[in-house]
Amino acid sequence: MFYSKKSLGQNFLKDQNIIKKIINLKNIKNKDIVEIGPGKGAITEEILKHHPNSLTIIEKDNYLLKKLNEKYKNYNSIRFYNNDILKINLEKIIKKNSIIFGNLPYNVSSQILVKLIKFKKWPPKFTDLILMFQKEVAEKIIGKSYGRLSIIANYRLKYLNKFDVSPNCFFPKPKITSTVIHLVPIRKLKYKINDIKNLEYITNIFFSGRRKMINKKIKKVFNLDQIKKFKNLDFKDRPADLKKEFYYQATEFYESG
Ligand code: SAM
Repeated sequence: MFYSKKSLGQNFLKDQNIIKKIINLKNIKNKDIVEIGPGKGAITEEILKHHPNSLTIIEKDNYLLKKLNEKYKNYNSIRFYNNDILKINLEKIIKKNSIIFGNLPYNVSSQILVKLIKFKKWPPKFTDLILMFQKEVAEKIIGKSYGRLSIIANYRLKYLNKFDVSPNCFFPKPKITSTVIHLVPIRKLKYKINDIKNLEYITNIFFSGRRKMINKKIKKVFNLDQIKKFKNLDFKDRPADLKKEFYYQATEFYESG
């Protein structure tokens, strides 16, 4: 008897229409596919029906990975990794032009997205991300609920499409609604940030205490001469009043100083 593990965010998809809708977001025939957290294989099974060139699956749960390995042992095109997605060198193991799917474990979903955004080489080795998040997190990513994650995600990713998934489509049933988002890498970046960690740092300083005005926060990062160079900045603004472009410029500026 298998008991789903809450600690690994195990809410398995059971609604076939939703599974089809996820895979139909992109033509995957003859493509190289990666699936994060395949679980019991609900999405995996549908991916294979579309005849990809290869499939790489990364699952932390030993038992579930073993079961998938047994089920698909005759498929030469599947590579199985019994690993933690946050620890594996994903950039190294995936093939060029991969499409990445994942009904992500909710407890680490934003960390997984940030890992994908932080690929050293850009444009990255993936062409599409089709990922499921808690609706609340998805709204942050697409900028509907603006904050740090919107700024970081939109620096390198463009959002194409999304749809909501009701709790009834899973077993066990989660308390919240989920959202599938289709994201693609922005190939030509407008701002040249050398290290995304600096964007994380800048947004962290500004957004700690998001109701507070930016006047004190900006002094934590820049000296008075540098601050003078920020034209048309209202120091009474709150962090969420400033557009994402301000944070990209501020990070470039921070790196050059
Ligand atoms: N794809 C399956 C589905 O849609 O039914 C399962 C999705 S479930 C929400 C998340 C899956 O990610 C689980 O199978 C869980 O064991 C796996 N998982 C959790 N944390 C992980 C991690 N850090 N690295 C890799 N897989 C993880």
